[in-house]
Amino acid sequence: MEAERSREKMRRMANLLKSGARMLNRACPVCGTPLFQLPSGEIWCISCDKRVVIVKEGEREGAVLKPLLWEELEETLLMKLREVNMRMRVEEDPEELQRLTHLVSSLLEALEDLKKARAD
Ligand SMILES: [Zn+2]
Repeated sequence: MEAERSREKMRRMANLLKSGARMLNRACPVCGTPLFQLPSGEIWCISCDKRVVIVKEGEREGAVLKPLLWEELEETLLMKLREVNMRMRVEEDPEELQRLTHLVSSLLEALEDLKKARAD
């Protein structure tokens, strides 16, 4: 299911950012999703959920981040927050509500991390 997959992607992204991963200004050669660099130095695609090996072209350490990408990411996070908010309003199952609440806090944390990363 598409919505399920995109939620899973957001969750992975939030977790990666929480773990100190950085978003790179490179896209996955397979699916075009922005790539993340883990604290270990590994490059990861959250959509393929696997490691991506990038051929370096003499780029400096710590790729430059495109402001446009940040804006898009922020927009996506806000859109997801709105979606979750709408679902919480109609959801009556306490377990599902709890799950949604967790999702909201993950998204909010990702937004916080994004703000911090942009301020760097
Ligand atoms: Zn990919």
